[in-house]
Amino acid sequence: MALLVLKFGGTSVGTIERIEAVADKVAGFRAAGDDIVVVLSAMSGETNRLTDLAQQIMDYPTPREMDVLLSTGEQVTIALLSMALEKRGVPARSFTGNQVQIRTCETHTKARIREIDGTRISAQLQQGNVVVVAGFQGVDEHGNITTLGRGGSDTTAVALAAALDADECQIYTDVKGVYTTDPRVVEDAKLLDSITFEEMLELASLGAKVLQIRAVEFAGKYKVPLRVLSSFEEGAGTLISLEGESKMEDPTIAGIAFQRDEAKLTVAGIPDIPGIAYQVIGPVSAAGIEVDVIVQNAAADGNNDITFTVKRSDSERAKKILDDLSPSLKAESVSLDKKIGKVSVVGVGMKSHAGIASKMFKALADENINIQIITTSEIKISIVIDEKYLELAVRALHSAFDLGDPDYERESIT
Ligand code: ASP
Ligand code: MG
Repeated sequence: MALLVLKFGGTSVGTIERIEAVADKVAGFRAAGDDIVVVLSAMSGETNRLTDLAQQIMDYPTPREMDVLLSTGEQVTIALLSMALEKRGVPARSFTGNQVQIRTCETHTKARIREIDGTRISAQLQQGNVVVVAGFQGVDEHGNITTLGRGGSDTTAVALAAALDADECQIYTDVKGVYTTDPRVVEDAKLLDSITFEEMLELASLGAKVLQIRAVEFAGKYKVPLRVLSSFEEGAGTLISLEGESKMEDPTIAGIAFQRDEAKLTVAGIPDIPGIAYQVIGPVSAAGIEVDVIVQNAAADGNNDITFTVKRSDSERAKKILDDLSPSLKAESVSLDKKIGKVSVVGVGMKSHAGIASKMFKALADENINIQIITTSEIKISIVIDEKYLELAVRALHSAFDLGDPDYERESIT
C-alpha cells in the first residue's frame, strides 16, 4: 500500500462535472488500497476573479486581506470534492492550510513554507479517510492566513509529500506531461517518460507552464518523486526523479529549451583591468535587472568586450545604465540587440559524452544559422542566435538529436 499525494489544478476542478471526475479518479486509487492526500487549486479563473473584486475597492489592498480573500477559492473546491467523495461512499475530510498546520513565514501573498505538522493528516489517514487539503495557503506564527504566490498549490503538494514521506507526488494538469520541446514549435515533440530534477530545472522555460518551478526545486531538495500527468487523458505522464533512478530512452539529451524574450547588450572597447566586469554588471544587477548569459573575450591590445543578455522588457533600462556609465568606463561603444533568441540543449547524460557540442554546431551550420554566443554548463549547452531563426534552430536540433516521437506520423495518418 502506497501513500500518494495527488494535486489537481484549477482546470481539473473548474466545474462540478470535473470535480465529479476527480472524485471518480480518487475513488479508483482508494479502491486499489492506497492512502490518499489530495491537494486542490481553486476553480480555474477564481483567483483572478477574487483579485479583480479587491481591485474594485482599491489599487493596493493590504496583503494580509488579499490572503484572507484569495485563500477562499481553495476552500470551496476542497469542500465540494469531499462531498463528491462521500457521495461515492469514500470517507473524506477537507482541511484548510491552517487546520493542518502548514506553517509559513509572514510574507503575505508570497509566503514560504517553513514546516508542516503532519500529525493531523496522518491520524485522518489512519482512520481510513481521504484527506483533502487546500493548496496555496498556510498560516504564519501569529495565526494569520498566508498564501504562497500564484501557482502555489504545486508547492503545497510537494511540501506535504515531503512532510508525510509519501511514495509519490502526482500533479494532475491539462497537459500529458513534460515534452522534449514545445509541441507548438516541433509537432513530433515526444512526451518524456522520465526526466531528472536537474534537467527539469534547466527546461524551466518550457516546464514553467507545466509546473511551478519552486515546486520542482522543493521536490529535488527533499527527494520527493514527482509525476506530472493529465487529468483528462489516460497515461503515466512524466516522472521527475533523481539521477540514476530515471530510465530515459535516450540517456544523452532530455530536451531542447528556448527563450524568445531576451536581448543582448555589448560594451565594446573597455580597458582590460581588474574590476571592469564588476563595473559593467554591478550597476545593472543593482537596478534589479536579471542578467542571464555573460561572456567576455580574452583581451586583445589591452581591450575587452563584455556581452550579456537580459529580458527584453528590461533591455532599454539596461542600455540607459550602460550609456550613462560609458564615459567612466572609457567604452568605445554600447550596443543593444533586441532581436535575439536563446536555445539550449539539456541532458544529464552530456556530462560523460563528448561530441554533443559538435553535433549541435553541425546541425546549426547545416541550416546556415549564425551563432552569436555559446555558453556551456555541466548539463546544458546554450547558444544565442538571431530571433528569426529560433524555431528553425529548435527543429533542427530536435531532429539532429533524434528526439522526435517515432509514433507521431503513424497516429496522424490513421
Ligand atoms: N489558485 C492559485 C492560483 O491560481 C494557486 C494555484 O492554483 O496553484 O494561482
Ligand atoms: Mg496551477
